[in-house]
Amino acid sequence: MQKGSIRVQTENIFPIIKKFLYSEHDIFIRELVSNAVDATQKLKTLSSIGEAKGELGDLSITISLDSAARTVTISDKGIGMTAEEVDKYLNQVAFSGAEEFLNKYKGQNENNIIGHFGLGFYSAFMVSDKVTVVTKSFRDAPAVRWECDGSPEFTLEEAEKTDRGTDIILHINDESNEFLEADRIKSVLNRFCHFLPVPIFFEGEQINHPSPAWTKKPSDLTATDYQDFYKELYPYNEPPLFWIHLNVDYPFNLTGILYFPKIKQSFEIQKDKIQLYSNQVFVTDEVKDIVPEFLMLLQGVIDSPDIPLNVSRSYLQGDPNVKKINNHITKKVADKLEEIFQNNRKEFEEKWENLGLFVKYGMMTDDKFLEKAEKFHIMQDTDGSAWYTLEEYRKATEALQKNKEGKLVILYSTEPVQQNGFIKGANAKGYKVVKLETIVDAAFINQMEMKWNDVHFVRVDADIADNLVDKQDAVASVLNQDQEEKLKQLFSQTGEGVHLTVEVKGLSPDAAPVVATRPEFMRRMKDMAAVSGPM
Ligand code: ADP
Ligand code: MG
Repeated sequence: MQKGSIRVQTENIFPIIKKFLYSEHDIFIRELVSNAVDATQKLKTLSSIGEAKGELGDLSITISLDSAARTVTISDKGIGMTAEEVDKYLNQVAFSGAEEFLNKYKGQNENNIIGHFGLGFYSAFMVSDKVTVVTKSFRDAPAVRWECDGSPEFTLEEAEKTDRGTDIILHINDESNEFLEADRIKSVLNRFCHFLPVPIFFEGEQINHPSPAWTKKPSDLTATDYQDFYKELYPYNEPPLFWIHLNVDYPFNLTGILYFPKIKQSFEIQKDKIQLYSNQVFVTDEVKDIVPEFLMLLQGVIDSPDIPLNVSRSYLQGDPNVKKINNHITKKVADKLEEIFQNNRKEFEEKWENLGLFVKYGMMTDDKFLEKAEKFHIMQDTDGSAWYTLEEYRKATEALQKNKEGKLVILYSTEPVQQNGFIKGANAKGYKVVKLETIVDAAFINQMEMKWNDVHFVRVDADIADNLVDKQDAVASVLNQDQEEKLKQLFSQTGEGVHLTVEVKGLSPDAAPVVATRPEFMRRMKDMAAVSGPM
């Protein structure tokens, strides 16, 4: 048997990195600025344990653009590199100085380090003909200049740089002229670097907010802080309904703030999505495989260094951490809703119009959430007086509203105004009718019929008697045959030239004596139009 190690042909590796590592070229800014942040954070750590001496001074990062010279430069005042370190870190593909640092200073490192794979630096070659690195270590060592044109050959020499830190100078290639535009750079910085923990300047202005709300302790934040942060994320939205501050450190690290937005219509969703960060670096707002689907109706920020973010989506789906994160977030959200429901039911009811869409969607798509949400999912009586949880509705109606199989019958109305006659009729018999009139309700009812084995939903204008245990009709008809006929004729002639079905219910204190309905298929047509909108 022969054993050995796989060798890498360096000539081949650069084109692969350039072409396949990152699908989007603007990522190079994220990677290089992240490295600058890491270099700064490392210096802070070394200073805090006495390994770096003296005052650290200004630690800001600057990005500068020289369109005439066709260069973009990222400068930091971090730890810098000695000649040996340049050789170790830059000349070895996939050797991560970040990993090495984390291992060496385990437990002493309060400042999160972003780097991980030892590949980010090479993204510079996606947009550059040549990359020049001029760097001076915080240790007493000469400054050095490293230069490479994207081939495996590099040059390394002493340089004249007196202040600590690193300049990464990108000589932008012809295909990447877009990055010689200030606006383009600015928007990329804004997208990826907006919440990085070290001050970052571009064209004289600080572009980032180094300590965003989610990195702070909930006890240090006021309601206004949370609302302000929401505004910073989504400047044009109405204030959120609630928020949840996530803070987990076992069995994985995750922080974040999730907001319940004021959304009534599902078409309004999707535009402002949850943003995923890793150590305050924006990664993506395509969180489809990371966050449970129904939670995508929420907004805000999730930050986790434990999600392997640089790797492909399909990998993420199978990642056990991602699954755990999923379950945890679902649980947190359910707990928070239950807490508000228990402690402040009135507020909860008032906000149900917005919350309901979210809760119902969650109940339909996630059984773990359903289990919890049963306790706080509420339905409003059509008369507006009461709100019921499933259990409360059961208690309030059980004696009366059971069908032949012994299931609880939930009577509901999809159009309380038009179905008013039926509602009155049902109320007169002592039945309680709830509103289920929103856009998700048809699907919700469908799903819950399957999930709640002992519940049967019946629309108030369906033939209720068929669905309920026989009970003496409470409404006595006081009309004679002739009067009934006349009423029927009178009512069936009215209304948009449409033939109406007329039912004479008789007289009672609460019930409508006559109920006129459009034929079923007409109503369906209308429902469909309401759901699909103008075509
Ligand atoms: P990673 O950040 O995942 O470790 P990179 O390819 O982005 O890998 O960078 C490789 C290494 O080069 C870093 O770990 C770090 O040691 C070094 N390095 C890169 N940029 C800088 C910088 N601005 N200052 C100091 N060291 C740097
Ligand atoms: Mg890096």
